[in-house]
Amino acid sequence: MAALPREWKTGLIELGPKVFAYVQATGESGVSNAGLIVGSDSAMAVDALMLPSMTRRYVEAIKKATRKPVAQLINTHHHLDHTGGNRFFKGATVVSHARCREALAPGFPPVPLLQRFMPHFAREFPLMKVVLPTVTFQDRMVVHDGRREIHLWHPGYPAHTVGDAAVFLPKEKILFAGDIAFYYVTPLAFQGHVGNWIKAANRLLAFDAEVIIPGHGPIGTKADLRKMRNYLALVRREAKKRFDAGMPVEAAARDIKLGVYAQWREAERILPNVMRCYQEFRQELDRPMDLKWMIDGMRRFKGSASDHACL
Ligand SMILES: [Zn+2]
Ligand SMILES: [Zn+2]
Repeated sequence: MAALPREWKTGLIELGPKVFAYVQATGESGVSNAGLIVGSDSAMAVDALMLPSMTRRYVEAIKKATRKPVAQLINTHHHLDHTGGNRFFKGATVVSHARCREALAPGFPPVPLLQRFMPHFAREFPLMKVVLPTVTFQDRMVVHDGRREIHLWHPGYPAHTVGDAAVFLPKEKILFAGDIAFYYVTPLAFQGHVGNWIKAANRLLAFDAEVIIPGHGPIGTKADLRKMRNYLALVRREAKKRFDAGMPVEAAARDIKLGVYAQWREAERILPNVMRCYQEFRQELDRPMDLKWMIDGMRRFKGSASDHACL
């Protein structure tokens, strides 16, 4: 495995003609990536980040890159680290998969729970307000912006969440994968379907894409996506063995050797990921995970993360 790109800078990076990724270091919970695609008359933003301070910085960077208005904002899924900043794109049409809108409609999780999960961002959570998408699509949608085609793609089933969307530029071979891709940050499946997520990652690997912007982590390629897919496959395979042997979920999560993935950020996400696999095996994925249990469990794991360091 190549040296891990452990450090990267927050900012807008031009990847192709007028196509930018906005990457946030260092990809942990609440710290996601976004994008900007500038067309002939207007621009499209891909995701809105989470806290007001994050989105303001992103909007400033957009203003430096183009004087054209952001006419459309795509939400790649409902999680608040991608939709929290929607309200800072006034005048833009917010577009998402139909089930993303449905999942966002009840609002963000309660502020005290968010503060428990991400204490370093506690101060700004009370300032957040939900703005729902106003245009939704089912499996596919193509935006023709005069210069290029922008393809919005949903796998057809829940993967990272119920309403994931990827944004693909076929001419430029650039793919904004949203949270279907995590690079060097452990994927988090607390609302996902791990088996389907592996399938969705395989389908993205078949796209003619040379550059992939993950939802979290540095810009990469298909090689990085393969590594993430392999993590999910490892977790699911090892979880199944322990599920079949009747091992309780937390013991199973502790027992699985993560190998190289122990170095990925937030390796303690193994706990909710195995939990979600167990729910999948029991066909209980419609039951939401107890978030307080998940947060406290991951804290316990962090304390003993070194157990996972080697194969
Ligand atoms: Zn995210
Ligand atoms: Zn997410």
